[in-house]
Amino acid sequence: MKIICIGRNYVDHAKEMNAPVTEKPIYFLKSDICIHRESQKFFYPEFTNDLHYECELVVKINRLGKYIDTKFAHKYYSHVSLGLDLTARDIQKKCKEKGHPWEIAKSFDKSAPISDKWISVKDLSMETLSFELFQNNTLKQKGEIKDMIFSIDEIISYVSKFMTLKIGDLIFTGTPSGVGPVQIGDVLVGKINNSKMFEFKIH
Ligand code: MG
Repeated sequence: MKIICIGRNYVDHAKEMNAPVTEKPIYFLKSDICIHRESQKFFYPEFTNDLHYECELVVKINRLGKYIDTKFAHKYYSHVSLGLDLTARDIQKKCKEKGHPWEIAKSFDKSAPISDKWISVKDLSMETLSFELFQNNTLKQKGEIKDMIFSIDEIISYVSKFMTLKIGDLIFTGTPSGVGPVQIGDVLVGKINNSKMFEFKIH
């Protein structure tokens, strides 16, 4: 399986990164070695001094598809969850300056912590869905699906022009503003519509 991560999908986050909003979605990949579960321990990686959280709504693909039309994209997922696109911001900054790929800063082991819970879209009002990230009980990020620049359906349609989507693939749909560093000892709690989805501790 692959993990497709969308960049700059919220105007406020693009602003805080001093990055322009793009006309088409931009994406990069993580792989199955990036998945981190609540039952496992997360250790702060030794290769970075500036590990950042980016809380993101996650969509799970449940059908094989290619060249998916936006109007049919909703047929390709039935559940959403919440995850973190962990980023070695110091390394990413150097990659950006040199025009290098980001994988070294984004696609390392356990860089995609994800909730064990999945919510059926039938049980959600997708238009009003919101999610939050708390760092040591302090609210750091709040995202509302209505503020996405590219909708889930538009993302699926766009990405499927280039890559076949397979059952079990995950899409991290971008992070709202408020990204920041984590420290050893931090506890990160994510919620969808005020319901707790995950709790990760940094060791
Ligand atoms: Mg991200």
